[in-house]
Amino acid sequence: MAPRPARPRRAPAPGALTADTPCPCGLPAAYGACCGRFHSGEAQAPTAELLMRSRYSAFVAGDTGYLLRTWHPDTRPPELELDPLMVWEGLEITATTDGSPFHTGGTVTFRARYRHRGQRGELHERSTFGRVDGAWVYVDGTFIE
Ligand SMILES: [Zn+2]
Repeated sequence: MAPRPARPRRAPAPGALTADTPCPCGLPAAYGACCGRFHSGEAQAPTAELLMRSRYSAFVAGDTGYLLRTWHPDTRPPELELDPLMVWEGLEITATTDGSPFHTGGTVTFRARYRHRGQRGELHERSTFGRVDGAWVYVDGTFIE
């Protein structure tokens, strides 16, 4: 039997997400009803965890505008260039503290799986979130070994 040709990897190109695509953030919802409504500005993430998920989805979608918009002005880089060779393959939230609609701060600990130039890796980070004008924003993160 001839070896099967390797299946081409279908990395979602920026803008490839449609409203009906399963949301990349891992919640069992369509993109349009999940992170998509935050990316479009139609709604604001009500919790730090949902903001974290929507930022992960923005990395998948290549939405640098959303990433910068949801970054605290004190820690936000002047511009953001995403590595086109980075393919995000999944997000798992492992812990949260505070970050509810009734908090002004919170943390989200997560694992994000990726593939870069054929190498698989995992980012394990504890991110800190705060609010600016009521909206959740990413402040900074600490890598966890
Ligand atoms: Zn989502």
